[in-house]
Amino acid sequence: RTNPSAKPESALSPYACQRRTTMDNHNKIFTDALEVLAENLELGGNQGPSLAFRRAASVLKSLPAALRHLQETQHLPCLGEHSRAIIEEIFEYGSSSRVEEILNDERYRTMKLFSSVFGVGPKTSESWFCRGLRSFEQVLSEPSVRLNRMQTAGFLFYEDISKPVSRTEASALKIIVEEAVISVNPSATVSITGGFRRGKEFGHDVDFIIKTPEAGQEDVILTAVIERFKSQNILLYSDFQESTFDLRQLPTHCFEAMDHYSKCFLIIKLKREQETDARAGRDWRAVRVDLVAPPLERFAYALLGWTGSTLFERDLRRFARLERGKLLDNHTLYDKATNTFLPANTEEDIFAHLGLEYIEPWQRNA
Ligand code: ATP
Ligand code: MN
Ligand code: MN
Repeated sequence: RTNPSAKPESALSPYACQRRTTMDNHNKIFTDALEVLAENLELGGNQGPSLAFRRAASVLKSLPAALRHLQETQHLPCLGEHSRAIIEEIFEYGSSSRVEEILNDERYRTMKLFSSVFGVGPKTSESWFCRGLRSFEQVLSEPSVRLNRMQTAGFLFYEDISKPVSRTEASALKIIVEEAVISVNPSATVSITGGFRRGKEFGHDVDFIIKTPEAGQEDVILTAVIERFKSQNILLYSDFQESTFDLRQLPTHCFEAMDHYSKCFLIIKLKREQETDARAGRDWRAVRVDLVAPPLERFAYALLGWTGSTLFERDLRRFARLERGKLLDNHTLYDKATNTFLPANTEEDIFAHLGLEYIEPWQRNA
């Protein structure tokens, strides 16, 4: 563009939903450091302050090339004094002393280890750390620790599910999920969502969204799919959450982080292709799978919400509220000026309602 009144190409938006962020991160050395600082604050329960570092890292991820000088951060949004000081130190010494300190910190290391278990969040990690526990062996032999069903499965399959899932494994799972869904309802369809839809090569789980053309099929289909996995002897863990979605309760029950759709969090046995695990004497590995089944007319909102990234979603909602006077969540978009809900058949419709340029899923790695 040569129009002089147009914004220069370098004027990046402070909103992640107005930036295109692919998987090509040219500033990994800086974003990794900033994300350690963010994670450390999150593990300490300081969500607010951690956001500044998350935002700074996200802006750097959207840059078309690696930073060469600190001055290049001068005109970037979301880069505060603290983030710039970290970047400066990395330019000068190749690493940040604060980041190194955190990476060696016993509390950080232990909390990160504990919260890497499926079902263990920051609160549980903290309570274990405060009781003096430092390893899985200590947690599992501590009489006062009561594990819930999810955490029990988390420890049982830890070795498998802490290993990243590949795109090839995700495709193999899609075939299994699709086969199960179609056997229950031939007109239903399955799409991959979450990180793999954004083009990631590896994920901590595989996320699927199911589209059912008939109304009220959402709970039935997930229950039937779970039963089918059970009968195929591939179900290792299942947490089914029935739909609590009620149109009549909108908007009071929405605009929250969690949604009300029928969903399940599973651990599935996936057959290995060639090599067999001789040590364990088994030809499968355990993988985490999430399934969500929204009502048809909610599909676009659910797909947008489940595609992520987390920061992209957060900024979409913040942009809608602060710049457009609209409330967005995984179910709907509400216009406060006209007191109406805005219907959408596609993700493009939602971006258009918000007056945003469409951002492709693989450009949402904010
Ligand atoms: P990874 O590769 O680590 O799995 P991811 O981006 O796929 O990365 P997930 O934790 O699988 O991360 O989440 C994918 C998306 O689903 C996120 O955008 C998140 O907002 C959404 N999501 C996850 N769990 C829920 C839930 N219980 N309710 C509503 N949305 C959820
Ligand atoms: Mn995922
Ligand atoms: Mn998931």
